[in-house]
Amino acid sequence: MPRLTWHGHSCFVLEHGGKRVIIDPFLSGNPKADVAADEVAPLDGILLTHGHGDHLGDAVPLAKRFQATVVAPYELALYCQEQGAPVVRPLHIGGARDFHFGRVQMVVAIHGGMVEAPGGERFTTGPCGYLVTMGGKTVYHAGDTALTMDMQLLAGRVDVMLIPIGDTFTMGTSDAARAVAFVKPGVAIPMHWGTFPDVEADPQAFQQAVGKQAQVVVLQPGQSYDF
Ligand SMILES: [Zn+2]
Repeated sequence: MPRLTWHGHSCFVLEHGGKRVIIDPFLSGNPKADVAADEVAPLDGILLTHGHGDHLGDAVPLAKRFQATVVAPYELALYCQEQGAPVVRPLHIGGARDFHFGRVQMVVAIHGGMVEAPGGERFTTGPCGYLVTMGGKTVYHAGDTALTMDMQLLAGRVDVMLIPIGDTFTMGTSDAARAVAFVKPGVAIPMHWGTFPDVEADPQAFQQAVGKQAQVVVLQPGQSYDF
C-alpha cells in the first residue's frame, strides 16, 4: 500500500515497496517542516516541479547524500547536475519514464520558472506537475499552478491529487475545488498553504467547496496517508 507523508508546503514523500521518492524537498528554511534535511531517511528519487527556493530546497544535498535520481524539467536538471547531483534524469512537459522507483510523467503547470539559487540564472525553465505511479496507484502533484483546462486531460487517471490552495502565487481554495472537479481524483490533499502569511488559507473552506466530488484529506506536517 503506497504511503504519502506531508512535510509542509509542497514537500511530500511517497513510498512503496521499500522505494522512497521526495517531491519538492523544501525543508531548510521551511517553518512548517517536521524534519530537518539531515534527518531524512534514504531516498531513491527526488522530483522537482520548478526552481523556486521553496521547491528546489535541499534537493542537491539530498541527491548527493543518497545518490538519489533527480527528476526535473530539463533546464533545472542541468542546474542540479552542475551543482553536483550525481544522477539526473531530465524530462519535459508530456514526457514519461519508468524509473526503478516507479513511473513518472511530467504535466503542465502554469507558474514562474526562475531557478532561484546561486548560479541558477542561466537555467530558467517552465514549471511542471507530476503523475507518479507506484504500487499501481497514481499520485498527481500539481506543483505551483493556476487552474488550467489542461487538468481535464487527467480525469480518470488520478487516485490522489496534491493541490495548492494557498492563493497569492497559486490557486486559492475555490479554484482548487474546480481543479478537483476537472481531475476527478478519489482523494484530494491540500498543499502550499499555512507556510507563510502570503499562503494562509483555510483547508476547511477547500473541503466545503469540493463537497462530494472527492474525499478531502487535510494533513498536518508529519502526518501520512495510506492508499
Ligand atoms: Zn511555491
